[in-house]
Amino acid sequence: MTSADQAIRRIVIVGGGTAGWMTAAPLSQMFGTRPGGAANPVGCEIVLVESPDIGTVGVGEATLPSIRYYNDLLELDNAEFMRKTQASFKLGIEFKDWGHLGNRFFHGFGGFGPAIHNRSSVAHWLRLHQAGGMPSHEEWSTATVMARRNRFTLPEGGAPSAANSYSYAFHFDAGLYAAFLREYAMARGVKREEGTIVDVSLRPGDGFVTAVTLADGRRIEGDLFIDCSGFRALLIEGVCRAGYEDWTHWLPCDSAQAVPCDKTLPMTPYTTSTAHSAGWQWRIPLQHRTGNGHVYCSHYISDDEAGRVLMSHLDGAAQDQPRQLRFKTGMRRRIWDRNVVSIGLASGFLEPLESTSLSLIIHGVSALVELFPDRACESHLVDEYNRRMTRQYESIRDFIILHYKQTRRDDSEFWRYCKGMAVPATLAHQMEVFRRSGRVTILDRDSFGEDSWWSLYLGLGMQPEGSDPLLRQVEEGVLREHFKRLHMAVARTVDGMPDHAAYLERLVAGG
Ligand code: FAD
Repeated sequence: MTSADQAIRRIVIVGGGTAGWMTAAPLSQMFGTRPGGAANPVGCEIVLVESPDIGTVGVGEATLPSIRYYNDLLELDNAEFMRKTQASFKLGIEFKDWGHLGNRFFHGFGGFGPAIHNRSSVAHWLRLHQAGGMPSHEEWSTATVMARRNRFTLPEGGAPSAANSYSYAFHFDAGLYAAFLREYAMARGVKREEGTIVDVSLRPGDGFVTAVTLADGRRIEGDLFIDCSGFRALLIEGVCRAGYEDWTHWLPCDSAQAVPCDKTLPMTPYTTSTAHSAGWQWRIPLQHRTGNGHVYCSHYISDDEAGRVLMSHLDGAAQDQPRQLRFKTGMRRRIWDRNVVSIGLASGFLEPLESTSLSLIIHGVSALVELFPDRACESHLVDEYNRRMTRQYESIRDFIILHYKQTRRDDSEFWRYCKGMAVPATLAHQMEVFRRSGRVTILDRDSFGEDSWWSLYLGLGMQPEGSDPLLRQVEEGVLREHFKRLHMAVARTVDGMPDHAAYLERLVAGG
């Protein structure tokens, strides 16, 4: 039982990038000053330290639907958020040239219609497709049909229908989002200290961090330290030596070049990912510009050549020189160690193919709130936190590896490596279950649900050899009728939706 004198009195967040402010905002809502300036009865002080000399990564423009739940928790006004961060809507990702040159498929947010007899609708679709005469499964995904036609409106409430069987996320300017959350957190009492940390004090015996010292000599004490210092991992690695699981052999991309470009039309409500000879290129439309970037493996292509590939496939005129970034895919062995919890890039990094980093920040903050400790940071809470975060990292890792492993491309050394590489046992099992019997095995809290895995398998051209016997319970004629009705409902629903750019313009104008 936590006694009052064991309660955390001061939280120190190290780092003011997207992770730092995404952590500060919900904590300030829980513990900070109440609206009107009243003190919070369960209050504890929150201090965020950011260096004026060490920049932020700054990229991170595409998100997953979890960002909406995060924004809702903070009770953000949607139109204001979209205005201030230059956001657009995202219904999923279009993949080009991944399975083979010329291959094109969509990973949309939301499913392919309601489950039938407890089995995913797309599993039934496959049965009909194999018998012949069925259009692509994508035509039953409202998100995909909307995306292909550049339409967007918010999902309707009410009974399940094609008008609410999709989900959505946002593209936004990550720097502006961090600034928006900084305003939010500081209005609720978070204290911001500007300075570069040069020293860290530890308690003798258990090695808990007790204070950080800034270059000008200021000393900031705390009970719980949240390491959001980015790839530097100042506390979790620099002090705690938590260790790093390096996954480069499964996800070999280790570099990126990013360049903001002038806004181009159409303003697609989706991210585009185009595979190149040693990596892939993103296109992300925002209100004020289009983000372009090339993620690649430096073992197979030089930086100069990667830059040329990026610049020759730009959408919109470049507004700046490309920015070079390096990373090592993997995760900390202990994301929480002693009284240091790492969130954001300090905890690990999975390349941005499925836009999962901000979502992992949300998982990290939610798990911290759920397992919030007292000053002792007892090991059962720390272990549970690490178990949950490891599961998230590993399940996302496997999902991303599948994009590479399942390719049929053999036009470059990079793709030949990806096709031939061994994969983690968890993914090998997952792929085997699908290949042999058309089933997807995931856990409840995994970031990507069953329909996401189906989108990938089918999009990359993987078909199961066997099938689930329960699918045959439904009579084929009845099933065809059902799919015909659903197909018409999706098409009709999307027909009535506005153009994405027009809808967005009205929304941010307050209409
Ligand atoms: P940073 O932005 O690096 O911030 C670190 C902070 O720590 C800074 O404020 C710095 O001043 C401070 N700091 C460091 N050392 C000290 C010190 N000694 N003293 C004081 N302060 C210190 N994510 C997505 O969700 N979607 C995407 O589409 C996406 N695309 C990406 C593309 C690329 C190429 C890369 C590399 C990343 C991408 N990400 C994406 C990830 C995303 O950018 C990061 O997860 C996010 O920006 C969080 O970064 P951070 O706050 O952890 O670290």
